[in-house]
Amino acid sequence: MAARSTFPAGLVLDAHKQQACESPIIELPLPTQVVLALDQGAGYSAEPVVAVGDAVAAGALVARADHPFASAVHAPLAGIIVAMETREAAVQGGRSLCIVIDGSGADRIDDSVRPVTDPASLSPEELVQRMRDAGIAGLGGAGFPTPTKLASARELGAHTLVLNGAECEPWICCDDALMRSAADDVVLGALILRRAAGTVRCVIAIEDDKPAAIAAVTKAIERLRDDALTLAVIPAVYPKGAERQLITAVAGVEVPAGGLPADAGVVCQNVATAAAVARWATRGEPMLSRIVTVTGSGVAHPGNVRAAIGTPLAALIAACGGYRGAPLRLIAGGSMTGRALPSDEVGLTKSMNCVLVTTRDDIGSRLGAVELPCIRCGDCASVCPAGLLPQQLLRAALADAHDALRRLGVRDCIDCGLCDYVCPSQIPLADRFRHARRRLLEAEAMANKAAAARERHELHKRRLQQAATAEQRAFDSVRNRARQPGDGSAGDGN
Ligand code: SF4
Ligand code: SF4
Repeated sequence: MAARSTFPAGLVLDAHKQQACESPIIELPLPTQVVLALDQGAGYSAEPVVAVGDAVAAGALVARADHPFASAVHAPLAGIIVAMETREAAVQGGRSLCIVIDGSGADRIDDSVRPVTDPASLSPEELVQRMRDAGIAGLGGAGFPTPTKLASARELGAHTLVLNGAECEPWICCDDALMRSAADDVVLGALILRRAAGTVRCVIAIEDDKPAAIAAVTKAIERLRDDALTLAVIPAVYPKGAERQLITAVAGVEVPAGGLPADAGVVCQNVATAAAVARWATRGEPMLSRIVTVTGSGVAHPGNVRAAIGTPLAALIAACGGYRGAPLRLIAGGSMTGRALPSDEVGLTKSMNCVLVTTRDDIGSRLGAVELPCIRCGDCASVCPAGLLPQQLLRAALADAHDALRRLGVRDCIDCGLCDYVCPSQIPLADRFRHARRRLLEAEAMANKAAAARERHELHKRRLQQAATAEQRAFDSVRNRARQPGDGSAGDGN
């Protein structure tokens, strides 16, 4: 049964979703070449296990995840590795080591691609390991490896899995399209994730402007008859999909400042990740593709496209009728938190939920706007979903005042961009806070390094002191023995 949840702060923004949402999902054929970034969006790279010239089958592992924050990468098509080099990519910093595969056109599937016959027969630990091998990562935009989150939820004894179907930003509607077309996959994936995370219940959260998705998921849940799997309908207020805010809205608990959701007994996953888990369990397919919204005023026919990971973005845009008008910017993600892309030659990553092509019309009056002084109107504070005071944070950020930044909670800023959106002085607040956080981290890393060096120096001093004391004791003992009469030393005078 659907329950209505509350949501503090935030804003109702123009959704811009209708056109992309109306058409059915386009299933894009495999491209002739894929460019696989080894950092799939979480900031950590997988380690290549292939070399240039190797032949690979579809589904074969090409890079393994040695770091818990990296995801394994697999070949979405059979072909030959033709390059392994650093290229422009849709990741932080704009570049990543990439593996380039030229498709051979053959239908060769890797032997490892086998359905999981009965996920319920696997222990939670086995499920987590198998998902790690399959490169399952969060499809909601962050690309964080799902198995790492699940393992930490188990360790911390999380009780609730929240499946995020809120689709928080304007323009993006791939989760809506997925829930309408594959609600049973979402629900099956929810059960597997719940088992792997060891939680007792699961809540699927959907915003109330998606009636068709709500109806489809409601039916899928009813077919299952599992009381520990429920649906929560939340108001369509941006940024309800932000993890902390969503958890408070649907699970009624606050994630402690600086803590993890699991510290509050909750683990959050995206609905598309759940569907990918179901695909992996039923087909044995590692994470080889995703649905992505291709939209914006600069796209001829906005829509949702299922494409292989590594597909050049130009092919996605072509599948939606190509460019329209005078495209100004290419953005990975939505209009509020998206990141500018260097070109349409970069490959699709697991974390990319939207390719937004903007024109001058979308950016409007803010384009080239001059930043003015803060007039203390308080608008930014009234919309901040994290309950922060952006105008005070701005003063602390400009002064690089680290104590004040910490006290005012700069780490709780979720980069939603709402303060920028309402600021009449056109101050790029979220950007300033991002930089302030980075400087704070750097300063803390330096302080930690200095403290570690001090500790090493003290330890070294103590060891020298101990060595000197031991030496002195040995010397004193020899001297005392030498002073004792009749010990046969030269001092006897005979
Ligand atoms: S919205 Fe802009 S001008 Fe108003 S208080 Fe915040 S920073 Fe200052
Ligand atoms: S970007 Fe940060 S400070 Fe600004 S409204 Fe969002 S959470 Fe608040």
